[in-house]
Amino acid sequence: MSRNLDILIRDMRVVTQLRRVAAVLNWDQETYMPPEGAQARADQISLVLSMSHARFTGPEFRRSLAELVDLPSGKVLEDGLAPEEVRLLQMAWRDWRRATALPVEFVGELARLTSESQHVWEQARRDNDFHLLAPYLEKIIEMKRQEADFLGYDDVPYDALLEDYEPGMTTAQLKTLFDELRPVLVDLVTRIQNADRPGRRELITAEFNEVRQWEFGMRVLGDMGYDLSRGRQDVSEHPFTTDFHPSDVRITTRLNRRDLTQGLFSTIHEGGHALYEQALNDRYFGTPLCEPISLGIHESQSRLWENYVGRSRPFWKHYYPQLQEHFPEPLKGVARDDFYAAINTVRPSPIRVEADEATYNLHIMLRFELEQAFINDHVAVKDLPAMWNAGTEEYLGITPIDDTEGILQDIHWSTGAIGYFPTYTLGNLYGRQFYEAACRQVKGLEDKIAQGDLKTLREWLRKHIHQVGRAKTAAELVQDITGGPLSAEPFTSYLEEKYGELYGI
Ligand code: ZN
Repeated sequence: MSRNLDILIRDMRVVTQLRRVAAVLNWDQETYMPPEGAQARADQISLVLSMSHARFTGPEFRRSLAELVDLPSGKVLEDGLAPEEVRLLQMAWRDWRRATALPVEFVGELARLTSESQHVWEQARRDNDFHLLAPYLEKIIEMKRQEADFLGYDDVPYDALLEDYEPGMTTAQLKTLFDELRPVLVDLVTRIQNADRPGRRELITAEFNEVRQWEFGMRVLGDMGYDLSRGRQDVSEHPFTTDFHPSDVRITTRLNRRDLTQGLFSTIHEGGHALYEQALNDRYFGTPLCEPISLGIHESQSRLWENYVGRSRPFWKHYYPQLQEHFPEPLKGVARDDFYAAINTVRPSPIRVEADEATYNLHIMLRFELEQAFINDHVAVKDLPAMWNAGTEEYLGITPIDDTEGILQDIHWSTGAIGYFPTYTLGNLYGRQFYEAACRQVKGLEDKIAQGDLKTLREWLRKHIHQVGRAKTAAELVQDITGGPLSAEPFTSYLEEKYGELYGI
């Protein structure tokens, strides 16, 4: 490795380490910190994050980067580098350019505004009062439009924001995908609702001992290959995955006595995220080669495990007898097919996080449309609740009873995360394409899953996706694995087949 590259990587590690320090503080805040610690903790996190930002955008880093890359154009200057080192520099330059495009005062002001507005959102949601949040949301939207101008874009401002979460993805591409997906989903959900086989959700909402739920989840995590000598699971209000280094990747879950699926599927979901982080190439720690490609690719890993494995027949062929042993009382006399139908019940709900596989993406489309409306088309904030309700009615056939159940349900906008939502749907689509590629390439993969062998799939994912880091873009990864571009078709065919069979439609 060249001396200049060595120096740059050392500088990048400092920036990354400071971010990971903030992640440790944040993990503690969400799991064990006593409530009165909140203010001091906010100050601590903001201090280390601003130190990290200052290092990244400061003169020293700029000098190291300029030795290797032409800063105005991003052209790599150093000769004789390996292809992955060239990619490392291209990605480092891209991140640096975006970080330095925003004035320091702007970053500080947006951070203060969003930290305050999160508290306001909590109150607005509790009191069902959108008027409380509206002035904050107006200011956030105005600043995000400014941010898009600072960052630059070719087509619409929303593209610049999307780039934060899904590099390379554009509004136009998403529109095409979603236009293909929407009519299929709306039609499928309508047919399911008219079917005469009702879902059997009541089977999994009996009384499930939490200690046993925890034990069962840990068993599945172990079988997936989640390494507990380099990770741990705790309880938090909202399940999440956080990583400090590939050698320390933690997840959380939330258990509900009256609903088996919440804890179980959040554990599998976060486990999917964690396998990705644990398998990143730590030789390049601190650089883009040891980072996930995008939020959409990250989500493909969690959704693949949660839905395409965890809600499948092969998986339960192996695990259902064990689950029954864990919960002899509530599952006594419940046949495996009925259990399978119960965990795959389709029922439109106004709440995104409660949505099933068939309705979930309709929630995302609604948010995507509103985000475009207020970022690109300057639609007024006061008009958003009515648009939200009309969209929910149109796509899901239900109207939220109030704003708490409607536009106030998600925290994202109040944190400034605009352009984030589409990555959930992208995760479903990428995930389906990857899973089908794995099934084509590994003979008898689903038979192995049916025998409780989850590690074969894990190995395939590790080799083809996890170890890649950002050495490929999302589009390149999909092309290399599937031989074609991102497509909604595998996902829609999967839904048609699965729910066609389940609901007899
Ligand atoms: Zn996730």
